Amino acid sequence: MPIRFYNTLTQKVEDFAPADGKTVRMYVCGPTVYNYAHIGNLRTFTFQDILRRWLRARHFETLHVMNITDVDDKIIRASVAGNVSINEYTKPYEAAFLEDMATLRFQQPEKIVRATEHIGEMVSLIQSLTEKGMTYESDGSIYYRIGKFPEYGKLSHNDFGGMIAGARVDVDEYEKENARDFVLWKQKKDGEPSWNTAIGDGRPGWHIECSAMAMKYLGETLDIHAGGIDLTFPHHENEIAQSEAVTGKPFARFWIHAEHLIVEGQKMSKSLGNYYTLRDVMQMGYQPEAVRYLLASVPYRNKLNFTFDGLKAAAASIERLRNFERRLQTDKFPDGSVVEAEERSAGTLRLFDEAMDDDLNTASALGALFEFIRDSNTAMDSGAFNAGNVGGAMAVLARFDEVFAVMTPTVAEGGLADEEIDALAAERVSAKKARNFARADAIRAELLEKGIILEDTKEGTRWKRKA
Ligand code: AMP
Ligand code: ZN
Repeated sequence: MPIRFYNTLTQKVEDFAPADGKTVRMYVCGPTVYNYAHIGNLRTFTFQDILRRWLRARHFETLHVMNITDVDDKIIRASVAGNVSINEYTKPYEAAFLEDMATLRFQQPEKIVRATEHIGEMVSLIQSLTEKGMTYESDGSIYYRIGKFPEYGKLSHNDFGGMIAGARVDVDEYEKENARDFVLWKQKKDGEPSWNTAIGDGRPGWHIECSAMAMKYLGETLDIHAGGIDLTFPHHENEIAQSEAVTGKPFARFWIHAEHLIVEGQKMSKSLGNYYTLRDVMQMGYQPEAVRYLLASVPYRNKLNFTFDGLKAAAASIERLRNFERRLQTDKFPDGSVVEAEERSAGTLRLFDEAMDDDLNTASALGALFEFIRDSNTAMDSGAFNAGNVGGAMAVLARFDEVFAVMTPTVAEGGLADEEIDALAAERVSAKKARNFARADAIRAELLEKGIILEDTKEGTRWKRKA
């Protein structure tokens, strides 16, 4: 079965393959760098990383572009208030976002592009729209006339038949479900940054940047355009209007939107103040891989209800996985191979892949994985798992980690890497043999202080990290 995605445009789950059969040309709306990203934002970006990793696991190449919005109303307001240039204002937040991406183990998109470095492309696109009669000028600003694009509303499935002709907005944010002519280019205001261009001295509206940058790097028709669900309208609707009015071609074949992360029934957002950044939760002692696991474990089309209990459960799940891996690496199994154990690995791989192919059903993929671990542990306990079965089980974990990327612990400052723990555990065994119990106990205490629990079993000493 091929990979299937729910396409917001057609409202159907559809088989996916890139148009050229080989490389997925994909654009994801990136962050507005006026503050730190919160974990709601990061849910959407975790989804795009899972999407990217799964496409690659299925042997497609990716040409994945993410933009950074480094000019908009909020950024201008904040930089004017702080008396710094927009560039000085946004740089630290851009750096923080890239650091969060690395902390959460996101693969780097092939291209990360900034709005302020593509003003020329935006101006050309606005000029093309003007040549086609799609724009009008008012008070020195340029607006898109949505009444001239009959398909307006096709992505958000809104019927804008009754829209108010000529009503317009020139802010970057505006209320949902209310179609208005939107601003493409804003006339310069005193004290605000601007660019002196062929279409006047001013700055771009928010929507034009994504059309201009997506088409520059990916061509007129993308395979996938993705983002958070709130971008469907007006942002993506406007991107379609801007791009298709010029090219006459579909702007994107698949539109994929991630649902929101919510807190007590409400969308996590800066304006509601109900948010945590990644830094906040890490300071509380949570490992970034627990955050990643939690954000990835709920299928992207379901709302994700954020709680600290959920985060603790994510950490505990990762510990189960790591303990299972350690058992595979350290237990002594009988020689040979048990057919059922081999079949269990192969069957789990199949179920895992099928679940991911099915619109990235991560919950179902994890269900198959944990059932596998439970059954394998039972088999090991009863001697029905042999040395020849270790490779198959490790392959299941490897497949999982190719996408979820949580198996390797993040070593906190002052924390211990696996090899250091192994070395201390081995030293403790030697100390005990030499009847140096004081040293053995000291090692146990030192490890415990660093969150490592030792367990003496028949097969020898095992260790695990406290969840
Ligand atoms: P922004 O930096 O505000 O432009 O948002 C970046 C991305 O985060 C966009 O794709 C938004 O749709 C997404 N987003 C914002 N709030 C949430 C949330 N609570 N849950 C999931 N995604 C969100
Ligand atoms: Zn965008």
